[in-house]
Amino acid sequence: MVAASDLHIHSALSPCGSLEMSPSAIVAEAKRRGLQAIAVTDHNSVENALIARRVGERLGVKVFCGMEAQSVEEVHLLVLFEDPEEARLFWEEVYPSLPEIPNNPEYFGDQVVVDEEENILRFEEKLLLNSLTLSLGEIVEIGRRRRGWVVPAHVESDRFGLLVQLGFIPPELEEGVLELSRWGWSHEGEVFKTFPDLVGRRLVAHSDAHYLRDIGRGRTLYEVPDLSLASLQKAGREGSFRVQLWEGAVE
Ligand SMILES: [Zn+2]
Ligand SMILES: [Zn+2]
Repeated sequence: MVAASDLHIHSALSPCGSLEMSPSAIVAEAKRRGLQAIAVTDHNSVENALIARRVGERLGVKVFCGMEAQSVEEVHLLVLFEDPEEARLFWEEVYPSLPEIPNNPEYFGDQVVVDEEENILRFEEKLLLNSLTLSLGEIVEIGRRRRGWVVPAHVESDRFGLLVQLGFIPPELEEGVLELSRWGWSHEGEVFKTFPDLVGRRLVAHSDAHYLRDIGRGRTLYEVPDLSLASLQKAGREGSFRVQLWEGAVE
């Protein structure tokens, strides 16, 4: 089967994520746009992802619980989990490394945990868009110990991209896929010229949506036997996928 996947979506829990991005709304929109698998990946948290997972089970969309973790080097890494409990344990382990800096809702927007019926459960008080005090290597190690799939996000971006912040692809991330941003995909020639190391790599696309209208605008179509995370990860490693970018108007 071909699994149309968008594995980088923010919810209302991300300070930059629109309040319309409740777990229920995200999953319903993903279904409407023909996605079989998505990941909800808020900055340094998994709480709304855990709720989206339950919505996905009801609506027939595979939802992976994920996190866009920010390392001390200011690199963004997607860490995706098959098992929601492993995602929760991963979060429990890394969250104490998030500095005790309060969110400023007037500047960043509220960070809200929303249940399946659109009720606000709580406001996250710590600013989530911040670096953990963990190194990239430590996040990779903790994530993999919990059987997570680590995918460096928007690697070419001068905001939190691996190739800009670190300047190279570390050995522990050599084998898997790397995400190019939607901007990167529309400027491929320029990106490959700036980062020749990307030529021949396994490069995937996701939306990094912060608004409903952007869900699925960057997607990766994996050739897989089933919708498990392991199957998608294997297809990624083997190059059994193609990417699809869609910048046109939304109906
Ligand atoms: Zn990011
Ligand atoms: Zn993101």
